[in-house]
Amino acid sequence: MLNCGSSSIKFAVLNLEDKRTVLSGLAERLFEAQPRLKTNPPGLTEELELSGPGHARAVQGILQLLERQGLPGQVTQIGHRVVHGGERFKQATCIDDEVLAQIEACGPLAPLHNPANLLGIRAAMEAFPGLPQVAVFDTAFHQTMPPHAYRYAVPEDWYTRHGVRRYGFHGTSHAYVTQEAARMLEIPVQNTCFVSAHLGNGCSIAAVKGGKSLDTSMGLTPLEGLVMGTRSGDLDPGLHAFLAENLKLSLGEVNDVLNKKSGLLGLSGLSNDMRELERAAADGHEGAQLALEVFCYRLARYAAAMCVPLGRLDALIFTGGIGENSALVRAKTLGYLTWLGFVLDADLNRVMIRGSSGLITQPGSPLALVIHTNEELMIALEAQEVLS
Ligand code: ADP
Repeated sequence: MLNCGSSSIKFAVLNLEDKRTVLSGLAERLFEAQPRLKTNPPGLTEELELSGPGHARAVQGILQLLERQGLPGQVTQIGHRVVHGGERFKQATCIDDEVLAQIEACGPLAPLHNPANLLGIRAAMEAFPGLPQVAVFDTAFHQTMPPHAYRYAVPEDWYTRHGVRRYGFHGTSHAYVTQEAARMLEIPVQNTCFVSAHLGNGCSIAAVKGGKSLDTSMGLTPLEGLVMGTRSGDLDPGLHAFLAENLKLSLGEVNDVLNKKSGLLGLSGLSNDMRELERAAADGHEGAQLALEVFCYRLARYAAAMCVPLGRLDALIFTGGIGENSALVRAKTLGYLTWLGFVLDADLNRVMIRGSSGLITQPGSPLALVIHTNEELMIALEAQEVLS
C-alpha cells in the first residue's frame, strides 16, 4: 500500500491472509536536503538515506528496503491511496493509462493531493513493473450519497459543467470502521445504521446505512464540516468577500489561512495537536479550552444531524488519532448528546486508548464505540477485491 503526499510517502506491506502488517514506514521531507526513509515498529526499525529528492527516489528506496527483507517476490499487488476520484470512480479501480488520465482530470478538485498521488503511482509502476496497481479513492465510498445530500444550493451548471457538489473524503476509514462495528456487534452489515466520526488531523463524520454512505460532513474539498487541526470546517460563505473587502486578502491568502492556520490552531492560538491542547486546557489556557469546546460542540451537532438520514442509530463510532485516544473529546461530545440518551461509562472511556477498540457507554444507553482504524489494510483489501 502506498499513500503519497506532496512531500511524504507512507507505505505498508500487508499479509492479507492473517491481515497483519509485515513492514511499514514513512519517507518524508522528500524535497529537503537528504530525505530519509524510516520503517515503523513493530517491524525492524531501519533507516535509509535516499539518493536524492522526489517521489521516484523514495519509491526506489522502499523497493531497496523490501529487498533487504527479502520481500519483493511476495508482493502481488500495490494499492494506492488516491484522494479525489470525482464522480468517475465509485470504487477502487485497476490502473491503466485511461485511469491515470482520469485521475489527472480530477486534479482541479484536489490540487494539493491528486498530483502527488499520480507521482507515486508512476514511480511505483516503474519500480515494480508487471505488478498490478490499484487506485483506492477517498471519495468513492461516498458516491452512494443521494443528490439531496450531495448537491449545494447553487446554480445547476456549476454542478453539471464544473462538478461543484459534495464528494466527501476519508471513505476508506469510514468503510473500515463501520464494517468492524458490524462485526463487533454481530449484526449483518446490510442491517446496520452507524454514525462514524474520523477525527485525525483532518476530521469528518458520515452517516452509513447498510454499509453505504448516505451523507458526510466534507464537501467539494476536505475543508467543509467539522473543526480540524488547522482547517476551519464550516463557515459563512460570505466570509471571503468580507475579508477581501476589509482586510484586502486575496482568495489564495484566505484559502491558505482557512486550510493551514485555522481550526484548533487558529482558535487556540497555541497548537493543532489535541494532546497539547488537552494539557494546556487543564492548566487553564483559555484559547485551548475554547478550541476543545468548539471542536466537541460542532462534532456533537454534526453527529445529531447525521442521524437524520439513518432513521435509527446502532452506534456512534469514534476513530482516528483523536477519536481513538482522546477520552476528553469523547466525553465532552457525548455530554452534548445526552438528550439522545447517551450515558458515558467513564471507566471504559478512560481505558479505550492506544489502538484498543470497544464500547464506552453504559448499559441502556445508545452505543458509542471506539474503533481503531486501519486504512492501510482496507486499501490492500480493496485492491485485492478488485483484482479477484
Ligand atoms: P492523520 O490525520 O495525520 O492520520 P492522526 O489520525 O494520527 O492524524 O491524528 C492526529 C491527531 O490525534 C492529533 O491531533 C493528535 O494530537 C491526536 N492524538 C494522538 N494521540 C492522542 C492522545 N493520546 N490524546 C489526544 N489526542 C491524541
